[in-house]
Amino acid sequence: MITQNAESQNLMEPVYHSGKSLGLNKALISRHAMTVLKGLRQKGYDSYLVGGCVRDMLLGLEPKDFDVATNASPEQVRQTFRNGRIIGRRFKIVHVRFGREVIEVTTYRGAPAEWHHDERIHRVGEEGRLLADNVYGTLDEDAMRRDLSVNALYYDPTTDEVLDYHDGLRDIKDGLLRVIGKPAERYREDPVRMLRVVRFASKLGFEIEPSASTAIDQHAELLTNVPAARLFDEVLKLFHSGSAIVTFEKLRQHGLFEFLFPATENILRSEEEGYPRTFLPLALKNTDKRIRQGKPVIPAFLYAVLLWEPMRKYKEAAMKQGLNEYDSIQQGADQAIVEELSTVAIPRRFTAQMREIWVMQYFFDQRKSRQVFRLLENRKFRAGYDFMLLRASVAQASSEVADWWTRIQDVDENERRKMLNSLSGHSKKRRRRKKKTNS
Ligand code: ATP
Ligand code: MG
Repeated sequence: MITQNAESQNLMEPVYHSGKSLGLNKALISRHAMTVLKGLRQKGYDSYLVGGCVRDMLLGLEPKDFDVATNASPEQVRQTFRNGRIIGRRFKIVHVRFGREVIEVTTYRGAPAEWHHDERIHRVGEEGRLLADNVYGTLDEDAMRRDLSVNALYYDPTTDEVLDYHDGLRDIKDGLLRVIGKPAERYREDPVRMLRVVRFASKLGFEIEPSASTAIDQHAELLTNVPAARLFDEVLKLFHSGSAIVTFEKLRQHGLFEFLFPATENILRSEEEGYPRTFLPLALKNTDKRIRQGKPVIPAFLYAVLLWEPMRKYKEAAMKQGLNEYDSIQQGADQAIVEELSTVAIPRRFTAQMREIWVMQYFFDQRKSRQVFRLLENRKFRAGYDFMLLRASVAQASSEVADWWTRIQDVDENERRKMLNSLSGHSKKRRRRKKKTNS
C-alpha cells in the first residue's frame, strides 16, 4: 500500500528544544489547557499541546484554541475529567469543557484517518480518499498524520520541551507551509487540507512550498468530494479569520473558489458594464476590518455577501420574465441558495437570515413609510443596513438613500416623520395625507 510505504519511509525521531530557547511564551497557555495536560500526566499518560496553539505561540500570537495529544484512549481521557465528553463515532476525540472554552483531546493517530470527527464526512469517498477505520498509534505516527510541518510540533509545558518531527521549527522561521509527505497524496486523502493551506498562508503571511502550491492548482477539483456540511464550517474559518480578502484572492488564484462558490465565480469572471465587480472584495475587506475592530460578524451576512451576485443575476432574469421586483428577489434568493446548497450546506436558520438581508435591500431602496418603521425595528436591521452601505459604496444603491437611512436612525420619532414627509413622489403624498388625519 502506498500510504504504508510513505509512512515507513517518513517515520522520524524528533528533535528536542527548550521552549525558553525558542522564545515560547508559556503565559499564553490557557489555565484550562494546563489543567487537562496536568490531569493526564498525573494519571501516568503522555500529554502534549499540539497543532495551531504551539505554532501560534512560537510566532508570538495568541492561540485561538488548544489541542492536546495523548496516548490515553478516549475512554481513559473521559474517565480522567468529569467534564469530558466523547465526540465522533469512527474516530473518537474528547471535548473537555470549561464554561465556554473547550479543550480538544485527541488520542495519537496511527493508520490513515480522516481528520474530522463528524460522522457526516465518512460517506463513501472517491478514489484515494481515506476509508479505513481509525487506528490509534504512537506519537511519531501521530506527527506524520498531521497536515503541515508547522502543525506537527508538540509542547510539554511541564518540562518546557518542544518536539519537532518534521522540521517545523525551520519552516516557522522561514515562514513556509510544507505538507508532510507527498502533497497530492495528502490532498487526495483529505481535500480540505488544500483549504487549510490557503487559510494559514493568508492568516500567517506564510509562503506555500512550491510543490504543495502546484499540487493545489492541479487537484483543486478534489474539493467536489468533500461533503457539503463540512465545507460550511471550512468556509466560515476561511472568511472569518481576519484575512478574508487575501484568502479570497488566494482561493481564486489556486482555482479553489470555483469549487466553493461556482455561480459566484462565474459572474466574477464577467464584468459589469465594463467595470470589474467590486462588491465582494469590498465586502470582504470590510469583514476583515470589523474583525480587527472586535465587532461581531455573522455567518448569514457573509453568505449573503458571497451569493449576492448570483442572487442579483437570477432576480434580473425573473424581472425580465415579468415578475415584479419583490417576487423576483424571492425567486432569485431561492435559486441562488438552492444551487449553492449542493456544494456548501448552509443551515436553514442562516439561509432564512440571508434572504431577510436581501429582501431588506428592496425596502431600503423603496422607503415606504410603513416599511421604514418596520425596518428600523427589525432584529436584523443592522445587518441589512451595513449591507446597503456596501452596495452604496459600489454604486449599487444611491448614496442619497444611504445617507437618509444613516440619519433616520439618529433622530427622534418627530424628526423621522418629517424625513418621511419630505420624500417626494406620488405614492408618498397619499400616505402623508393619511398620517395627518391620524394625528
Ligand atoms: P487553528 O486552530 O488556528 O485554526 P490548527 O492548526 O490548530 O489551526 P485545528 O483544526 O485546530 O487547526 O487542528 C489542530 C491540529 O490537528 C492541526 O494543527 C493539525 O496538526 C491537525 N489537523 C487538523 N486538521 C487536519 C487535517 N485535515 N489533516 C491533517 N491534520 C489535521
Ligand atoms: Mg486549533
